[in-house]
Amino acid sequence: MRTPIIAGNWKMFKTVKEALAFADAVKGKAEVNGVDTVICAPFTQLASLVEALKGTSIKVGAQNLHWEENGAYTGEISGPMLQETGVEYVIIGHSERRAYFAETDETVNKKVHAAFRYGLTPIICVGEKLEEREADRTKEVCKLQTEAALQGLTAEQAAKAVIAYEPIWAIGTGKSSTSADANDVISYIRELVKELYGEEVAKAIRIQYGGSVKPNNITEYMQMSDIDGALVGGASLEPDSFIQLVEGAR
Ligand code: PGA
Repeated sequence: MRTPIIAGNWKMFKTVKEALAFADAVKGKAEVNGVDTVICAPFTQLASLVEALKGTSIKVGAQNLHWEENGAYTGEISGPMLQETGVEYVIIGHSERRAYFAETDETVNKKVHAAFRYGLTPIICVGEKLEEREADRTKEVCKLQTEAALQGLTAEQAAKAVIAYEPIWAIGTGKSSTSADANDVISYIRELVKELYGEEVAKAIRIQYGGSVKPNNITEYMQMSDIDGALVGGASLEPDSFIQLVEGAR
């Protein structure tokens, strides 16, 4: 069966000092048998966090990467650079990056390939805007984004990828999707993966829900048949709340 995965997305929060204090506070606590735990932090904190969390089961991830190995791309960070820090995951195509930094389905796909090239597990974000949901286009949007993100991957790679279904209207708003609605879309995405790669891959790929997940609603999501964990922003920033999320995913 699939191992649930709780990933914190710290976005643009915390200094190295604050990140290390957090690591200290969650060591031995946000570590639960049968749950994969990941902290996706800003670039400057990655190497220190990897070092601080050595010997624990908590993994570290980045929030973006460039698809080229190196080059004249001011301000960007590449796969080999991430690999050197010791991170194991990278969030790709978060809706904030699509909205504010012009990421497209095409660049998302290039980044997913780059992640695999350098041994990183991509956490690929898909999800609809409020107006798309209201126009009953949720599944259509998720289909286009998922197909584009996975394009050209081998079955083995697709099975290892993580998809985060994050309805954009639920991110940072306190308005979470109902567990039934989230499960419905996630089952649909899994069905899509089955059409693309067959039953084995569809059974293996982990699909998280994201959008206002909190300690008080995590269990509700985890009880659903197709939800394999959560990508969590706001509620991942405080150690106690993060520990409760990981415990809630057990
Ligand atoms: P939120 O963010 O948990 O604060 O809604 C989720 C995300 O952006 O991944």
